Amino acid sequence: MFKAHSSVDAPFARAVLAWYVKFGRKHLPWQQNKTLYGVWLSEVMLQQTQVATVIPYFERFVQSFPSVVALADAPLDEVLHLWTGLGYYARARNLHKAAQTIRDRHAGQFPREFEHVLALSGIGRSTAGAILSSCLNAPYPILDGNVKRVLSRYFMVEGWAGEKKVEDQLWQLSATVTPTTQVADFNQAMMDIGAMVCTRTKPKCELCPLQKDCQVNQQQQWANYPAKKPKKTLPERQSYFLILEQQGKVALEKRENSGIWGGLYCFPQFESKATLLQHLAQQGVQHYQEWNVFRHTFSHFHLDIHPIFATLDSPNLTGQDRTDWRRIAEPAVQFRVSTSDKYWYDPQNPVSIGLATPVKNLLTQFIRIYYGENGVL
Ligand code: SF4
Repeated sequence: MFKAHSSVDAPFARAVLAWYVKFGRKHLPWQQNKTLYGVWLSEVMLQQTQVATVIPYFERFVQSFPSVVALADAPLDEVLHLWTGLGYYARARNLHKAAQTIRDRHAGQFPREFEHVLALSGIGRSTAGAILSSCLNAPYPILDGNVKRVLSRYFMVEGWAGEKKVEDQLWQLSATVTPTTQVADFNQAMMDIGAMVCTRTKPKCELCPLQKDCQVNQQQQWANYPAKKPKKTLPERQSYFLILEQQGKVALEKRENSGIWGGLYCFPQFESKATLLQHLAQQGVQHYQEWNVFRHTFSHFHLDIHPIFATLDSPNLTGQDRTDWRRIAEPAVQFRVSTSDKYWYDPQNPVSIGLATPVKNLLTQFIRIYYGENGVL
């Protein structure tokens, strides 16, 4: 484990800290009345997500779950509901699981030892370092995407950071430049420089505190650093979503808690149009409408979504599936305490459940068609 071992008087740290005083971000919501809980939430939300996107999610989250214990005690559906639209839902499931670990094993207090923080679900080395350095000024370096970019350019590091040996080298460099005091400001400054100055394209080297000794800047080579991830073509998959309406409500199913969209509610999915239509035919539904196909890209594959809309307009049909759906339609309002995996979603009385972004967008489309512009979600 690399610990910080530079000093605030070393040229690198001095330049970065001086820049932070003038230009660094100090007014973000999680920087006010800092707590380990709030910083943890923000760090997890900021993984693969921009600050501007995170702010409203963070504010809603702390309002609904003001403490680790409140988060631990909340139903997972409610946590996923507040996460809807932020993506990478494993982060929300891990937050919930980690909160329960803190409640049960740490008496509800966020741990202060690095190893205990690292052992929590969804927390890697950089996030653990960021939380403890930010709140306690503990001497841990960080290595998020922004810091990787700054260090790769400053030291002209060869190779893609996803390779273990390149990542190890970057960790070592991060520890070498991080001071043992004023760590909170230094780490925040490094993230800010990466986000605001040493940007992916067109870095603003003329505004950068590291300009003088930056190797990439001296050789005008920023476009080649950091090395890009070797390209591979993503496979394409097809999925047929059944948007099944009955009396203004829409059928949703809960997915397994792990994997893609784990724990979220989605439309019933089919591998082919034929199986979807067969399913409809079994219920006596002959008419359907195909909506525009669109693509949702995950990190490891493209999903081409084919939405098919149909309506169960006669209440007297007797298909088994119809019976199941109708059975769960009744206790919908008690849903929060239900573990039902099938649900008639009422857009006019929405409940707190997590929805994958494409599902939310299709529901919005449905509402516009069915209820007009004044429908709610
Ligand atoms: S001088 Fe330019 S390339 Fe070097 S760290 Fe600063 S912004 Fe990045």
